[in-house]
Amino acid sequence: MILTEYHYKDFKFIGNSEGGIHTSIAIPRLKLMFDTGVGSPQLVEIPKILLTHGHLDHASGLAYLISQRSLRKLPPAEVYVNPAIYEPLDQILKLWHKIEDYQSEYKLIPIDFNTIYPLQGNFFFRAIPSVHRVPSNGYVILEKRNKLKKEYLNLPGHVIAELKKKNPDIIETRFEPIITFSGDTQIEFVIHNEIVQQSKILFLECTYICDKRPIERARKWGHIHLYEIIENQEYFRNIEKLFLIHFSTRYTKKEIKDTLKQLLPEWLYKKTTPFLTKKNFHSEILMND
Ligand SMILES: [Zn+2]
Ligand SMILES: [Zn+2]
Repeated sequence: MILTEYHYKDFKFIGNSEGGIHTSIAIPRLKLMFDTGVGSPQLVEIPKILLTHGHLDHASGLAYLISQRSLRKLPPAEVYVNPAIYEPLDQILKLWHKIEDYQSEYKLIPIDFNTIYPLQGNFFFRAIPSVHRVPSNGYVILEKRNKLKKEYLNLPGHVIAELKKKNPDIIETRFEPIITFSGDTQIEFVIHNEIVQQSKILFLECTYICDKRPIERARKWGHIHLYEIIENQEYFRNIEKLFLIHFSTRYTKKEIKDTLKQLLPEWLYKKTTPFLTKKNFHSEILMND
């Protein structure tokens, strides 16, 4: 399996995403991956898995990755999942232990939507409900920053230093959204969540881009159409970098690139990168979707 790599600022993103085929994107620096796809052997060493939903193109590799980690004597994977699929996934994993006749260790954690989970250093994450045909959620990576409260911003440095000694309250702690990963969702994931609109980097699904697969069809299947991103472009003003993922395999790479260039307003086009596979993961078979 050939993995695709993109870099933005201090982050490297590695993986693949094709609608209905395979979606798994890792951030090695944060030692996590969003979704497992069908399971990439190259990503076995990534210890944290943040699953968005249980569709097989996003989650079928879970048992494989867990088993491989165990066989390689790596610490058990920490797997965060939507609470609605915690039980069935746990059962599947246990059944697979029986089939394999090998007890792999894993930590399956049903996410709590009100909790901010630590990652490493100043990085944390939380889950945000998304809108799909099955229980689903996206994830936001947050960076914890200590900032001077607004009312003190214009004071000279030595005054601030004095104030800090007397009153540590002039500093406030904020969690800034750095990276958001949508998983599969309808456009409401962006429209209804300010935290998504304020993320520096947004990975957003964009399954359809043509008239043959219109907006109604995208919505019926719980997906986003490129036209909806254009209609709702104002929600993307503050995003620094937009990675579009999960394109249907009915489109060639050239069609995707040309359509984005042709249809997106220039300011949005400039910050948009389609997350394309180097070679179609599933090159011979065109999905009949
Ligand atoms: Zn999908
Ligand atoms: Zn799905």
